[in-house]
Amino acid sequence: MNEPVILVVDDDPQVLAAIRRDLRSRYRDEYRVLSANSGVAALDTVKELKARGAALAMLISDQRMPSMLGVDVLARSREFYPIARRVLLTAYSDIEAAIRAINEAHLDHYLEKPWDPPEERLFPAIDDLLSTWQAAYQPEITGLRLIGYQWSPRSHEVKDFLTSNLIPYRWCDIERDPGTLRLLEAAGASAHELPVLILENGTVLRNPPMGQVAECLCPNTPVTHDLYELIIIGAGPAGLAAAVYGASEGMRTLLLDGRGPGGQAGTSSKIENYLGFPSGVSGSELTRRAVAQAKRFGAEILVPVSVVGLSVDGGYKRVALADGRELVARAVITATGMTYRELPAEGISDYIGAGVYYGAASTEAYSCRDCRVVVIGGGNAAGQSAVYLSRFAREVSLVVRREGLNATMSHYLIQQLAALPNVRIRHCTVAERVEGQGRLERVWLRSLVNQSLSAENVDALFIFIGTRPHSDWLPPSVLRNAKGFVLTGRDAAIAEAFPKTWKEAREPMLLETSVPGVFAAGDVRAGAMNRVASAVAEGAIAVRLVSDYLAQT
Ligand SMILES: Cc1cc2nc3c(=O)[nH]c(=O)nc-3n(C[C@H](O)[C@H](O)[C@H](O)COP(=O)(O)OP(=O)(O)OC[C@H]3O[C@@H](n4cnc5c(N)ncnc54)[C@H](O)[C@@H]3O)c2cc1C
Repeated sequence: MNEPVILVVDDDPQVLAAIRRDLRSRYRDEYRVLSANSGVAALDTVKELKARGAALAMLISDQRMPSMLGVDVLARSREFYPIARRVLLTAYSDIEAAIRAINEAHLDHYLEKPWDPPEERLFPAIDDLLSTWQAAYQPEITGLRLIGYQWSPRSHEVKDFLTSNLIPYRWCDIERDPGTLRLLEAAGASAHELPVLILENGTVLRNPPMGQVAECLCPNTPVTHDLYELIIIGAGPAGLAAAVYGASEGMRTLLLDGRGPGGQAGTSSKIENYLGFPSGVSGSELTRRAVAQAKRFGAEILVPVSVVGLSVDGGYKRVALADGRELVARAVITATGMTYRELPAEGISDYIGAGVYYGAASTEAYSCRDCRVVVIGGGNAAGQSAVYLSRFAREVSLVVRREGLNATMSHYLIQQLAALPNVRIRHCTVAERVEGQGRLERVWLRSLVNQSLSAENVDALFIFIGTRPHSDWLPPSVLRNAKGFVLTGRDAAIAEAFPKTWKEAREPMLLETSVPGVFAAGDVRAGAMNRVASAVAEGAIAVRLVSDYLAQT
């Protein structure tokens, strides 16, 4: 129902029915004709249409109504729909007043009652008004809209969720984007209730908890089997590849993720070194394609669901979800990746989401228009984010602890950074303290060369340092190295505790952990290459090994 609307207002039910009938007879293919029986009801409808992002082409209102005069209804609707045509419906005796109103309240036309025959006394005037409206009308952006303050942690949390679930939305900054206050008012919400989500069907969510956002936007499809051959935990590149290969090999495959598909790669603005994409591919595009491919082969995808535990019961693996459900599979691939470590700078935790972001450069890049930003880290992710942010921000400082970037960053990124006039690299520097009033405003940087301390005014700080694997949810029998990365194959077999957990006559396979039938792929694995291509390769190899394992059991 995206047709533009013609709204007619009259307190007299007979007149209302007659004009609605005549308008529908002629315009119903191109316009939706709605009616209201009072000025108040009409203005409510106008606000609701605005909140839904619908187009209002024309408002026709009777002049004499008890609660509100037609001319007032028409004038007040202008705030919401400035270019909608405004027509006053009058009796002969009111024509003088109607003409005055056209001049004073800038109405477009008046129609005299009765309008019979409509072919002569109604349609020509309406045709003419609609064609001038059509010429001036620019379709509004509809769909999901998120209204909030740029530097609000809650707004960032919702943005991050939408991005990782590949849900398109329009970000409306209450302080910067003109018209946002009006949109908020039309939605019946106030600035105290931000962030506000306006769904495509007009539903308004006020400062919603993430559970409510997930429930409304990603209703969980029920799992269809009591027993899966393969459950994959983590839908980054490794998990998505495993889902494509598992399902294409005919395994009953279920893929789970705590946020949404994509993983770290999904947050990347441009992956330039993945085979087959000579001009690069955004993480979200790669994810979109992988999800479509996995589904085409019949893999089931369940998001957002966090896995909190794994237990082994004979040949069955029981996967415990945070919502209390338990899923069962014959084999499991853990592809839960890793995230960036917390920056040990004073005050940092007070500004997370309010100017301080871990990863998330692509989510927040648009909010950094004309801002000063600092990126911390010397790896590819930091370099790529600095390059991307430089397209929006006025100034980007890349803060690196080491003397150079050669040991940690790809050569092509180092060259790109060197060519950007608004990027400055600060070697041998660490962030020591952050501060601000309600949101990040300043970062104190220490030079490791002469120990000097300097303050920089910044709007946003993106952190890409050190890594932490997502492996806490695994049972102790799945052995890990000192940093928590999962041991597989030979590395697992030589671990001290291995004989206590492994009771098979055979050795663990290449990507198999210290628990038979539990495999690991991608960045969560000790010794992983931390690249999209290697994660994808490990996902595919793990499926091959799962197939061998299932054949033996
Ligand atoms: C900004 C950025 C840019 C990058 N650019 C490049 C590049 O250009 N080229 C390149 O080769 N590499 C790049 N990388 C690295 C690359 O993205 C990673 O190596 C790759 O994503 C690892 O894939 P993965 O599937 O192993 O894990 P991840 O991508 O980390 O995915 C793990 C998934 O598991 C989910 N998960 C974790 N715990 C749980 C749980 N308990 N329950 C349910 N789900 C869970 C997470 O939500 C996540 O979706 C980049 C990384 C970043 C952050």
